[in-house]
Order: sequence, then C-alpha cells, then structure tokens
Amino acid sequence: MKDESLNIEMKLGGRSSRYVLGPLACLELGHFVPHPPPVYIIDGAVAELHPKWLEQIQAGCDPREHATLVLPGGEGVKTPERLLAIWDWLASHNVPRDGSVVAVGGGTILDVVGFAASTWRRGVHFIAIPTTLLAMVDAAIGGKTAVNAVGLKNPVGTFHPAEAVLADPGFLTTLPRAAWRDGMAEMVKTAIIGGVWLFEDLHRQRADLARLLAIGDDEDPVPHVLGALPWREWIGQAASIKARIVGRDFREGGIRRALNLGHTLGHALEAHSLADGSPLSHGQAVAIGMAVVCRIAAERGTFPVASAVQVIELLESCGLPVTWNAPDRDTLITLLGGDKKVSSADGLRWVLPRSVGQMD
Ligand code: NAD
Repeated sequence: MKDESLNIEMKLGGRSSRYVLGPLACLELGHFVPHPPPVYIIDGAVAELHPKWLEQIQAGCDPREHATLVLPGGEGVKTPERLLAIWDWLASHNVPRDGSVVAVGGGTILDVVGFAASTWRRGVHFIAIPTTLLAMVDAAIGGKTAVNAVGLKNPVGTFHPAEAVLADPGFLTTLPRAAWRDGMAEMVKTAIIGGVWLFEDLHRQRADLARLLAIGDDEDPVPHVLGALPWREWIGQAASIKARIVGRDFREGGIRRALNLGHTLGHALEAHSLADGSPLSHGQAVAIGMAVVCRIAAERGTFPVASAVQVIELLESCGLPVTWNAPDRDTLITLLGGDKKVSSADGLRWVLPRSVGQMD
C-alpha cells in the first residue's frame, strides 16, 4: 500500500466535508475540532485492539483528559435505547451547541453516533473515524445516519454529514474476516455503479481475494492482508465514486438511489433474518440482493449476462453468499413495504444495473 494521503473535498447539503485516506489521516483530527474539546465514542473492539494509536490521536487533538464512551460495535448498538443512552452521556458531559463528537468504529457506531450528533442540541459537529472496510468505502461518506426500530432496518435517521472522515487503513489489520467480506459487498456495489476500472481490477484479482477472504475463520483477522492487494487504491476509488454521487445528490432525489443497488431486497432479508434468529450481516444481505437484481436484469435482457456472471463470481470470491432461502411471499411483501426507500409516489423502487458503470 502506498503511503501518500488521498484528500476528497465534498459539499453536502451546503456544508463542507473532507475525506482523508492514509496512514496518518487521523492525526489531522485537530484541524476539524474547534474549541471546546471533542468527546469520543469508540467501538469496544477498536478501543481494545488499538489503545496506543487512539491515545495518540486524542493527544494530537488535545493533550487534556478526554471524555470517552466505549460502546460494543455491531447491529445491536443501532437501537433507540442506545441512542437515548448516548444523549444521556452527552448531557452528563455538557456537550454544548458548538461541541464536537468524534465517532471511531464501523458503520454501526458511525450510524448511531451520527444520529446522536445530528439531534443533540439540534446538531453538533461530527467527525468520523471509520475502522472497518465497509465504513471507509461507504457508511462514513454521505451523511446518512440511522437506527433500527419497529422490526425494520434503518427506518429512522437523519442526514448529518461528518465534517471530516479520517480513514486510516492501519485499523484494518485487526478486522475480522467476516467484516472484510461485508466491506467487499459495498465495494463491489460501488464498482458496479460507477467504477469500470475498480470492477475489472477486483475481478482480475479474485483468486487472491478468495485465498484471503473466502476461506478461513469468520472471527479471525486476515494475516498480511494489507500488503497482499492494492487496498489503498481500491478504497480510494470506491470512496471517490461514492463522494461523487452523494455530492451530486445529497438528499437522494435521483442518482444517489443507485447506491441502493441490492439494498431493497437486502434490507428485507437482513430484518427477516434478524427476527428469525439466524442473522445475515448487512454485507451478506446486500450481496444476495445484488446477485438477485443482476440475475433479474440479465434475464430481462437489460444487463449483459457475462457481467452478471462476473458479479456473482466476484461476490463468491469474497466469501459472500449469492443465494438464500427466501421468506414466504407475504412476509417478503410486508418486509419490502417497510423499506424506508418506498416512495408514496412510485411504490417500491428497485435499482437495476444496465452495464458495469451505468445504472437505471
Ligand atoms: P460493524 O460496525 O458492526 O463492525 C463489524 C464488527 O467489527 C463489529 O463487531 C466491530 O466491533 C468490529 N470492528 C470495527 N472495527 C474494527 C477493527 N478495526 N478491528 C477489529 N474489529 C473491528 O459493521 P460495518 O460492516 O462496519 O457496518 C455495517 C453497518 O453500516 C450497517 O448497520 C449498515 O446499515 C451501515 N451502513 C450505513 C451506511 C450509511 O450511508 N450510513 C452505508 C452502508 C452501511
């Protein structure tokens, strides 16, 4: 992986947001947190695995003692109850209207902390330090926040972009294999939407991806993963594509909907599998959703069959599922009806690919 930083400037909802990718990205935190000093909400696994680096990041921003809340990462943290607990904690630390909240963790921590930051005193500064692949290429970019509620995935949320997203791939050295796979689902999605080079490069290197990700224990980190493949280029490409899309359509009135490729069915399966006691991860659910829409589009003759085959090969190489036992028809219809992207004007929206790099 090359050492130089990648900087992406975005204007989201009229506000500036900067994405920095590189080994020293987090040391730029001080540039983004005006007085008073920030408070930190950190994923428990990251706090345990990277204590020295976190200390250094916090000390680089402010040498005094830091108000830090450690929360368990994972879908279970995205609840209204946890949101209330975070508001309590922000109150106990007197976080003012011009205060800053720094979230360090995967997509789940960023989603719930971003929600808390967007609502606390009607919105305080928010800085995201993503520590999973999925968060670096997707969840940290574009300002969507959410919690799960009423048996649905992400039905309540806000748009509150991080002023800075500071992505240091070094965090990924400890990432469990299952979380790498989840991140690959969103990276493949982004490549299908807008990254011909990215898609072709991922597909070309699928044997190495399979060696690293498809085989091996879900819970284990992946040995020597960072040096084995061009992650810095891939993460940078995926982040740039997402930044370009959300920069053009912050409120998801048009082109941003493409980022929901695989998510309409994916969210329904994710919610159903959770209620069923055999939870699919977000990445697994999205992979199945993508495989299904690519097959449908290929059968309708609107997406090349060869591309659909390549998508499925790539997802399988990343150790992701491409088929699932669907719930019964009525359950599925109910779950699909609960997707938050249902618009009263147009009913359920399905995003179908047309060719790699182009969406409907
Ligand atoms: P996650 O946040 O659950 O993290 C996966 C696991 O990895 C957790 O157990 C966490 O504790 C652990 N972890 C995090 N960083 C680690 C590290 N560096 N080393 C070791 N362990 C680490 O999962 P995720 O895949 O990052 O995020 C999924 C969530 O993101 C879903 O809830 C999804 O809805 C959301 N999402 C949001 C957006 C958005 O635009 N807001 C986009 C895509 C996905």
